[in-house]
Amino acid sequence: MLSISPTISRFSNLSDCQSLNPGRYSRHSLPHLWAPPPPPPPHLRNTKTLRLRHSFRISAIDAAQPFDYESKLSDHIAKSKTLKIAIVGFGNFGQFLAKTLVRQGHTVLAHSRTDYSAVAADIGVSFYSNADDLCEEHPEVILLCTSILSTDKVLRSLPLQRLKRSTLFVDVLSVKEFAKDLFLQILPLDFDILCTHPMFGPESGKNSWKDLPFVYDKVRIGGDESRVSRCEKFLDSFAREGCIMKEMTCAEHDQHAAESQFITHTVGRILEKLDLDSTPINTKGYERLLDLVENTSSDSFELYYGLFMYNKNAMEQLERLDLAFESLKKELFGHLHEVLRKQLFGTKERSMGVLQKPKALSKLPPNGNTPSLPPPSDSSN
Ligand code: NAP
Repeated sequence: MLSISPTISRFSNLSDCQSLNPGRYSRHSLPHLWAPPPPPPPHLRNTKTLRLRHSFRISAIDAAQPFDYESKLSDHIAKSKTLKIAIVGFGNFGQFLAKTLVRQGHTVLAHSRTDYSAVAADIGVSFYSNADDLCEEHPEVILLCTSILSTDKVLRSLPLQRLKRSTLFVDVLSVKEFAKDLFLQILPLDFDILCTHPMFGPESGKNSWKDLPFVYDKVRIGGDESRVSRCEKFLDSFAREGCIMKEMTCAEHDQHAAESQFITHTVGRILEKLDLDSTPINTKGYERLLDLVENTSSDSFELYYGLFMYNKNAMEQLERLDLAFESLKKELFGHLHEVLRKQLFGTKERSMGVLQKPKALSKLPPNGNTPSLPPPSDSSN
């Protein structure tokens, strides 16, 4: 940036500029400064009073100014990495995501049933109580963070006609086939659809998202470059935090999630009912159980209920858990019976061939097979 100034004169010539910042100033970037200086007019040629430092002169200001081309260009590149994202459902999880998105430089707007204006202002999010006002801001991405149970109602109530035609819809619901079907059913064909599930929450991801899985399914992303790049920019918000990015179909997700996440939440909630306390002799395993209770109980019951209601694989897992518990009890009681019978009948029964060693109960059949209890052990009769 060049200017003429009587007061600011940091560099008296180009070589000064180059020695201070050789990368920035070059023969190519400032070619006009490399022309030899014009000779002074004849009447001044022999005048000793020509001292540049006492007169107006060309000087260089090091910092790029907001109005010069270089600045505008870098501003544009920086901005193009960010998105205007509207979070719909600004509860526990919506706020959790917003903090990171704001830190990354995205423009984040929010709308929710409850008035979260104050919380939003603290995080750096613009809150809109009215969905029409939110949509008229023309966000590039609508990020649905509503409860599983309310998503249908909330999505149908959004004034979609006020959005730009190519808006990208993203959800973070913990059940994916349901979200995908709903989007495909309700959203006009012009809208893009990305179904995602960050496999972490405000507890497990409170310090960092590094190495935490992020599942996504590009259900419908238009072919043109701007749409593809918008989707990639959104995914990059998680990738750059260190998430393990897993692309899979919504159906695959639901199968895996029922076997892992639903079981975890269920066990956490069962243990919560036991009202477990910390003891002076906690083992590492017990500490982990207490952590599990804390982790799962901080999520709303509505979320857990949604995992059960809207994942068709959840019921099977609940039955398997029940069967596994019954099977374990039978195994324990089988051993107990043997001890009791030994005490009651001594060796007489063994010699008569009545007492048999209890059979170890087999494991449950793998997921997907019809669950059935293993045959009861003779000794348990
Ligand atoms: P949640 O209880 O599942 O959902 C709370 C959100 O749903 C709030 O924004 C709430 O709005 C909204 N909501 C509930 N009932 C509503 C209704 N009848 N009408 C309009 N809005 C309603 O708890 P969450 O933890 O924040 O989860 C949000 C979503 O993120 C869920 O779909 C969940 O599956 C997903 N998710 C959660 C986690 C997690 O660890 N928590 C992790 C991954 C994905 P108001 O607050 O305005 O009432």
